[in-house]
Amino acid sequence: MPDTMKCPACNSEHAYQDRDLWVCPECGHEWSGAADALADTAQDAGVRDANGNALADGDSVIVIKDLKIKGSSSVVKGGTKVRNIRLQDASDGHNIACKIDGIGAMNLKSEFVRKT
Ligand SMILES: [Zn+2]
Repeated sequence: MPDTMKCPACNSEHAYQDRDLWVCPECGHEWSGAADALADTAQDAGVRDANGNALADGDSVIVIKDLKIKGSSSVVKGGTKVRNIRLQDASDGHNIACKIDGIGAMNLKSEFVRKT
């Protein structure tokens, strides 16, 4: 939440926060600053990285640990940067589709990456 907020009624910049309410000393308007918090909660359903940040199609991420690739002797090293991810529904938890240089197309779990 920002430290300062303009009054939505009179646009005064002197509004101050009193517990859960914002109060404008100039026109007496009171309003709740909680609307922003509710909007954030609504986006919680999306795919999150290891730090809990929301991921979106086209994001770049970094793999945070060595990952063995199923059916191959290759390993995706921790620290590998992956560009242009694509989110997908996955019952096995591999909710990120991507292409990694030197390895090719593969699926990752969002819990093993972090957004750059
Ligand atoms: Zn005001």
